[in-house]
Amino acid sequence: MDTNAAFEFPAARFPASIENLRVEVRQFLSGERRSGALSRPDSVSMVVSLDFTRKLAAHGWIGMTWSREYGGHEKTALERYAVTEELLAVCAPVRAHWVADRQTAGVLLRFGTKAQKRKYLPKIAAGEWFFTPGLSEPDAGSDLASLRTRATRVDGGWRLSGTKTWNSNSHVAQFTLVLCRTEPAGEDRHQGLTRLIVDLASPGITIRPIINLAGEHDFNELTFEDVFVPDENLVGEAGKGWNQATTELAYERSGPERWMSSFRLLAELTEALGKNASAAACQQLGGVLAQLLTLRQMSMSVAAALEAGRTPNLEAAIVKDLGTCFEQELVRVARELINSEGIDIWDTARRLADVLESAQLWSICYTIRGGSKEIMRGVIARGLGLR
Ligand SMILES: Cc1cc2nc3c(=O)[nH]c(=O)nc-3n(C[C@H](O)[C@H](O)[C@H](O)COP(=O)(O)OP(=O)(O)OC[C@H]3O[C@@H](n4cnc5c(N)ncnc54)[C@H](O)[C@@H]3O)c2cc1C
Repeated sequence: MDTNAAFEFPAARFPASIENLRVEVRQFLSGERRSGALSRPDSVSMVVSLDFTRKLAAHGWIGMTWSREYGGHEKTALERYAVTEELLAVCAPVRAHWVADRQTAGVLLRFGTKAQKRKYLPKIAAGEWFFTPGLSEPDAGSDLASLRTRATRVDGGWRLSGTKTWNSNSHVAQFTLVLCRTEPAGEDRHQGLTRLIVDLASPGITIRPIINLAGEHDFNELTFEDVFVPDENLVGEAGKGWNQATTELAYERSGPERWMSSFRLLAELTEALGKNASAAACQQLGGVLAQLLTLRQMSMSVAAALEAGRTPNLEAAIVKDLGTCFEQELVRVARELINSEGIDIWDTARRLADVLESAQLWSICYTIRGGSKEIMRGVIARGLGLR
């Protein structure tokens, strides 16, 4: 894995053909780094670059596992997993297409009509159309089923009103896949919820930026005032959207992005420690690496289950909880080792200081985005039959 620094995963469990693919991706990324097209090397954030997204698409690295009929490349989940790891290792500027490729497409492939698949998937795979998830609301974050955004039936479609929040990159996306209430909540609040594809250029939509703790414009608040959504944008059956939302969250919760967000920090730390690291530092770093490789195996198993058409909500929640706590713990370990090993972050290891600062600010959201850790533990408890 090309990281900018001296760190590499062993090739465990990946067949040789995938290692060739890794080499190809690394060569591409090296070229991009040389031309200055990669994200800042001193930050863990993965920014938007429409140019980079189109180049990835041209290589066939978006929509990798879908059928050619829908613009995909019919590769395996493991091949996609390897490409995702390589991109995350260098914090590649993939933000624009990330959500559509990772989760929206999975929902459309599973629940969408043939016409929807034909319309949206080739454009996503071409790196031209992007989605933002339309789940959370100002008063319904963790308790998603209590959402208040509503759509009512009108001639030829629906009228949508309400507010969504924390919508990642809705300022660059063309669409959102909204979860809204279309029937009154009965005894089971999960019934009567519906998923609609909403064109963000529709009249009646306001997008307000929210600047995050790191000072970056990553997400927004979306307001819908009587927005018309045509019938053809209904995904699956009206009133049965909850299952789609949980499927989407399983895609969001289990990938390498749930244990690799602080990877650049680990790479920089390893390089700064160098060959003179103390035995205690090596031991601590070894412990971190063991956790990382275990998480990787777990996450790959969930990817395989999703590929097989299952909805591994429990397993995805376990990966999300353990992985994101690990990503935060790494920041603490880095601070501790910088201190105990006397690494001079004000002089020789200046880039490590910058990456640490960026990771410190970003890591707070790791155990919130995609569902908070408290909620993950509730999902796990329910999955184990404990509540
Ligand atoms: C960087 C980032 C990007 C995001 N992108 C999107 C996006 O694109 N689209 C989208 O729809 N959402 C997005 N989210 C939302 C995210 O996935 C969370 O689900 C959401 O932020 C949680 O809701 P909330 O912020 O209202 O917090 P709350 O639900 O108010 O929770 C606040 C705190 O209370 C705890 N809590 C809540 N309920 C319980 C309970 N029953 N038991 C114990 N503890 C509880 C939570 O764990 C949390 O610590 C994003 C969030 C972040 C941080």
